[in-house]
Amino acid sequence: MALLRFSLLLLGVSSVIASPARIARQESMTTTVAAATPAPTAWDEGAVKDFTIHSSCNNTEARQIKRGLDEAMELVSHARDHILRWGNSSEIYQKYFGNASTGEPIGWFEKIVNGDKAGVLFRCDNPDGNCALEADCPRMGHWRGDNATLETVICPLSYETRKSLDAMCGFGYDVANGATNFYWASDLLHRLLHVPKVGEGVVEHYAGEYDECIELAQTHPEEAVRNSDTLQYFALEVYAYDIALPGTGCAGTWTATSSEVPSATLMPSATETETPSITSAAPQMASCTALEGKTDSPVRIEGSG
Ligand SMILES: [Zn+2]
Repeated sequence: MALLRFSLLLLGVSSVIASPARIARQESMTTTVAAATPAPTAWDEGAVKDFTIHSSCNNTEARQIKRGLDEAMELVSHARDHILRWGNSSEIYQKYFGNASTGEPIGWFEKIVNGDKAGVLFRCDNPDGNCALEADCPRMGHWRGDNATLETVICPLSYETRKSLDAMCGFGYDVANGATNFYWASDLLHRLLHVPKVGEGVVEHYAGEYDECIELAQTHPEEAVRNSDTLQYFALEVYAYDIALPGTGCAGTWTATSSEVPSATLMPSATETETPSITSAAPQMASCTALEGKTDSPVRIEGSG
């Protein structure tokens, strides 16, 4: 009995001795974990979140371009969000993109909103002389193409004709018959898609006019999701329907006859998106089709293949 009691005593002593060691070991482990936490890294150091407006733009011009770009981000953000919310169950999505997967159009819109904008420049000094290419058909603006792939020129006529997004569905505009460049926001969306850093040379003009875009959604949905005009039409229609006039919008009904009239008269075509409006207050644009592709879209793809 005495031996057993002695053994228990030894056991107790051993427990008392072991306790500080365990505590020390726990403290040591805690320190090790803390040391393993990675230090924050500046992985996005140098990221550029805003477009650059060149010093050739005076304050009045720069303010209008800045506001137009802000509105373009609002338009494009909503186009992205509409797809994120409704996917391809959206009737408007199906109208413009058919049965195509949603990832690509979401991606183009998201790139414009949150992609790096380093070097993407808007200027006002007409360095290529294209703003007055033809006296009766001056340009609204153009991508500089091979001369400077990151640069876009905004010509003086833009300031007189482009409308604020606040005027969505106003001035007699509807999506089907209005020009895609009626608003600053959609005009600048078009111009940004030409910049290879944005459109990657993949977003192109596979179809131009409204009816062609609607057809493309059914025949070649894989091209519709990378068709510049389709992306513009979709963004305009969901903005009109969800935001400007909720539940109503201004989709309009395309009138085929208007595209068959002589070139000197008003046309609702999306192919005139690089061309100026005439003096009419209506959203349609004068036909300067001959200019299309010369300076705005050096790599124009004819037909949908
Ligand atoms: Zn174009």
